[in-house]
Amino acid sequence: MTTFHTEIASKTAPKRPLAVLLFGAPGSGKGTTGKMLAKLTGWPHLATGDLLREQIARKTPLGLEMQSILAAGQLAPDELVSRMVWDRLSWPDCENGFLLDGFPRTIPQAEGLARWFEGKAFRPVMIHLWVEYNEILRRLTGRRTCPLCGAIYHIESNPSGVCEIDGAELRTRDDDTEQVVLARLQTYQSQTWPVAETLKGRGIAVEAIECGEMDPEGVADRIVSRLERVAGKFEKRNSKEISGAR
Ligand SMILES: [Zn+2]
Repeated sequence: MTTFHTEIASKTAPKRPLAVLLFGAPGSGKGTTGKMLAKLTGWPHLATGDLLREQIARKTPLGLEMQSILAAGQLAPDELVSRMVWDRLSWPDCENGFLLDGFPRTIPQAEGLARWFEGKAFRPVMIHLWVEYNEILRRLTGRRTCPLCGAIYHIESNPSGVCEIDGAELRTRDDDTEQVVLARLQTYQSQTWPVAETLKGRGIAVEAIECGEMDPEGVADRIVSRLERVAGKFEKRNSKEISGAR
């Protein structure tokens, strides 16, 4: 599972592998940007939500434990989430760098991560995607999702209102109204700020990326340039070449 992918990445990775911690408010395009970044760099994009779903689908002991906690309507405890992340970071495909998305989310997770980095070669960089409020509002309130396959569209790019994959009628999520968006942004800020401060306090570099109205591809390019400024030049990968390897 590591072979081809790791092989290409090792030729282009900087000497000290980068560990990118992706942060971005709802509507910042963090998930899509993370996937683009993974294509450009060859590093795995590790979103905690995906890791969690994987563990549950594979019915691992951790997955089963998480499932029962989530089924009871509780939040996954820091200790379990962290354990899941440490496990994934020990895979060989992380050796040349990785992108963490959705972790750390709490101060204990941030402290755990700072400890995890101790004695390891990784150079951690927190990337904060910064998008103006009005732009976030435009993106989120115009968002339409497919109830069948989960595909996400924007009213401006898909005025037809039906899913291009299965023809289902698209819906607006209840939480994509202005009032809810504002509340979500406030929650995001109040949770993220202390986490960012904790990481900074542990000497982890924090880089803000101004996203403006750029699409995730443009944002990913900008992040790569910024990472190169921090860590030295590394060869960008051709996304076409990689998609075949996935
Ligand atoms: Zn669909």
